[in-house]
Amino acid sequence: GGFYDAKRIREDFPILRERVGGKPLVWLDNGATTQKPKAVIDRIAWFYAHENSNIHRAAHELAARATDAYEDARATVARFLGAPSPDTIVFTRGTTEAINLVAQTWGRQNLRRGDAIILSRLEHHANIVPWVRLAEELGFSIRVAPVDDRGDIIVEDYARLLDGDVKLVAFTQVSNALGTVTPAKIMTELAHAAGALVLLDGAQSVSHMPVDVKALNPDFLALSGHKIYGPTGIGALYGRKELLDAMPPWQGGGNMIEDVTFEHIRYHGAPMRFEAGTGNIADAAGLATALDYVLALGREAICAHEHMLIAYAEHQLRAQPGVRIIGEPAQRAGVISFVVDGHDVPHVGRALSREGIAVRAGHHCAQPILRRMGVEATVRPSFGVYNTIEDVDALVRVLKAL
Ligand code: PMP
Repeated sequence: GGFYDAKRIREDFPILRERVGGKPLVWLDNGATTQKPKAVIDRIAWFYAHENSNIHRAAHELAARATDAYEDARATVARFLGAPSPDTIVFTRGTTEAINLVAQTWGRQNLRRGDAIILSRLEHHANIVPWVRLAEELGFSIRVAPVDDRGDIIVEDYARLLDGDVKLVAFTQVSNALGTVTPAKIMTELAHAAGALVLLDGAQSVSHMPVDVKALNPDFLALSGHKIYGPTGIGALYGRKELLDAMPPWQGGGNMIEDVTFEHIRYHGAPMRFEAGTGNIADAAGLATALDYVLALGREAICAHEHMLIAYAEHQLRAQPGVRIIGEPAQRAGVISFVVDGHDVPHVGRALSREGIAVRAGHHCAQPILRRMGVEATVRPSFGVYNTIEDVDALVRVLKAL
């Protein structure tokens, strides 16, 4: 608790001392990926220097260390999400793989012609493409929860889409394109009342606000390590244990079986049955360190700091002639999207890059929502624990000089 000191926090992140094109790096691309604190970088190096083995606990000392690192990491993810036990956590490469896992296992087992699922207009392509592909194959239909001109889901319209045909509602907790915080708890309650399961995309939420699966009560939640100060190539799927145990395996191979003959295979229960082959052991340990780092800073404190930055940035951007903020959601986290009249988006991105300022300038893998808002692309600064008022000022200086 106490005083939130972003300047002090910056010292934990070696890359923030980097110069790019001779300019100090200003990292405002946290929605795409976050930078890593030294603790995470050191944790990964420690694994390879002192613990590296495949995970088969009983084999030898290093196997025991690696197994402990991996399973402790699973317990940390569970604790971070308020999940009831570590076996509700499946390690994946990230959010994309977690959603594909649900589509290919639960989806393939439970969705058929005549069924429907609901997605929201805000979704990242990672929560659209797996479902559209599966729907084309299995013949279920996809309904889209609409969004108003501010970029908020129209909850009444969403509620009207829920009927007995709907088996799943899959939506994001925070929009990576507009920053909208969706009313996840209410939408989840409505889905459950209609007999549908809920998959929450937590890719953009878990780094910005406290997320507790006991409070929100989703059936599945997906996250990416690299968007929460952890390594790339590791993420997690939380799933209710009864659901996970009833779902068929996805990929087949070692680690996920109890017994194999050429005639018959007996699978482990969850989560092992979804983790075929050698997992990303070192990066799982790195993810756990990242989550501990976030917990130590305090999620409420991070949330308050980022809200202050976002409010400041919105105020500064509104004061710039020609700048149009895209989306004014009731509640915002993480990102602000804007366009500048008379300057195309790639041009603004390049002007910022020349000054060492990293933002996304494009469609953010969320074309349906940008088109709903009447644009094909935006400039998108996105915020993290180490950003400062000075970072926002640097961005605004470039816009003034366009
Ligand atoms: N969902 C949302 C809302 C995202 O912002 C992202 C990443 N931009 C993803 C899913 C996909 O995450 P990943 O690429 O780490 O799998």
